[in-house]
Amino acid sequence: MSESRPLPRSAMNVLPVKERMKILRRRMPELDAALRSRNFEEVNLGLEAADAVTEAQRCIGCAKPGCVVDCPVGVKIKEIVALIAAGEYLAAAAKLREDNSLPAITGRVCPQENQCEGGCIVGKKGEPVAIGNLERFVADFERVSGQLGLPAIAPSTGKSVAIVGSGPAGLSAAGDLIQKGHRVRVFEALHELGGVLVYGIPEFRLPKSIVRGEVENLRRMGVEFETNVVVGKSVTIDELMQDEHYNAVFVATGAGLPQFLNVPGEHFNGVYSANEFLTRVNLMRAYQHDEYDEPVYDCRDKDVIVVGGGNTAMDAVRTSRRLGARTAKLVYRRSDAEMPARAEEVKHAREEGVEFCMLTNPVEFLGDEKGWLTGARCVKMELSEPDESGRRRPVAIKGSEFVLPANVAIIGVGTTANPLIQSTTPDLATNKWNYIVANEESMRTSKRGVFAGGDIVTGGATVILAMGAGRKAAASIHAYLTSGEW
Ligand SMILES: Cc1cc2nc3c(=O)[nH]c(=O)nc-3n(C[C@H](O)[C@H](O)[C@H](O)COP(=O)(O)OP(=O)(O)OC[C@H]3O[C@@H](n4cnc5c(N)ncnc54)[C@H](O)[C@@H]3O)c2cc1C
Ligand code: SF4
Repeated sequence: MSESRPLPRSAMNVLPVKERMKILRRRMPELDAALRSRNFEEVNLGLEAADAVTEAQRCIGCAKPGCVVDCPVGVKIKEIVALIAAGEYLAAAAKLREDNSLPAITGRVCPQENQCEGGCIVGKKGEPVAIGNLERFVADFERVSGQLGLPAIAPSTGKSVAIVGSGPAGLSAAGDLIQKGHRVRVFEALHELGGVLVYGIPEFRLPKSIVRGEVENLRRMGVEFETNVVVGKSVTIDELMQDEHYNAVFVATGAGLPQFLNVPGEHFNGVYSANEFLTRVNLMRAYQHDEYDEPVYDCRDKDVIVVGGGNTAMDAVRTSRRLGARTAKLVYRRSDAEMPARAEEVKHAREEGVEFCMLTNPVEFLGDEKGWLTGARCVKMELSEPDESGRRRPVAIKGSEFVLPANVAIIGVGTTANPLIQSTTPDLATNKWNYIVANEESMRTSKRGVFAGGDIVTGGATVILAMGAGRKAAASIHAYLTSGEW
């Protein structure tokens, strides 16, 4: 958490606590479900200023704010909400930026129900303060106002840092390091910058213009970007340090290697990984299907099943609806209660006509003589005692097999580390799942001058955790570059 500026006098909530507790949570306006399930426009429309102020007045200004404790990067939520209640939106945005460098993004995609809003004291008796919606409101207000002041940049230190990967970890590290006066160059394997924020999360949840705006701000601050560079193939970490003389490298390559079910028939035409499906739709612009040739299997009037219960599966199934699927079914082997996806995405998916086949597991994909998918043989599951993840273990019910007809099946059951950098950097320690080993505080790896953070260290996690890791790494890299001590 960074140093806090004092709040102005106006930011005092004058309503008595009893009155504040009576105010009902303001609803986020959203596009009509029938309409939006056929287009890629953003679903949530954002709070009006009057609603944001009323929502902020629901905060009771706790002495020990549970919201801050449960925010992974300790955003000063209580103070920000008080500033919104006082109509001081730009001051609220500035305070938010003290701890969160991508607020318009996290306001849209953080799983608030498990974080800040999960810890909100008002939520113990009713609905929690809509912290995510308020965060989005001030970040958008600041962006639209054009009054986003770029931070001061320290005089050049003469040191340079290579950042590998332009997801939230890489971008937030770049922002902090450039301010310290270091030269920063971000290397990205794909042709677009933003990592999962652009190639994974669809336009209807996070418009690409918002991510591009953040990248543009970094460019204006002096960060250099190079796309289409696959580090480990085009250039190695050792070459970056020895031949190109980077003083430090931050590896923020995410966990983008898709996992499959490893059941018979996964090779049939029409079976995708969710990663490939979403990347094709997002980066090859199938979401603008009137203007671009659709580079995915035509979902129009087809039966689509998506396997998994996380954000990726939810994004894929909602995307398939928008591409014209006749039926879009989410197949998940546990029950609703165990689904890791954000609660809002589950609600939106149901409203958009996605069918939920819970406690169901595909055991085989079926195809025709030409190799095209025709369906999935599934078994019904029941939950037994909790496994090592703490969730109740699904067990197949004998004799419960049935066939779900499908022309497209999308597998969204998780991802793992891409091994390229690890395999071309011999002295970089990895764990048994091939994630890079880095110290939790300093983000240092086993190799001098090389730091790592985000999903490539933790495994698939969240945007806010990746952003927090990038900021921690930046502080640690700065300490290393100025002290020379490892
Ligand atoms: C579909 C989907 C939906 C999600 N929804 C949410 C959500 O709603 N809320 C939430 O909090 N989290 C969500 N997540 C998780 C979240 O997006 C990730 O935890 C986060 O993006 C990780 O950030 P990162 O910077 O570590 O990696 P990434 O965002 O994965 O970025 C890594 C970047 O490194 C690049 N790269 C990889 N290898 C190389 C290489 N060798 N050379 C150069 N570049 C390389 C990649 O192309 C990529 O651009 C979602 C994930 C997915 C896949
Ligand atoms: S926990 Fe809820 S009520 Fe308390 S300060 Fe945070 S937002 Fe306000």
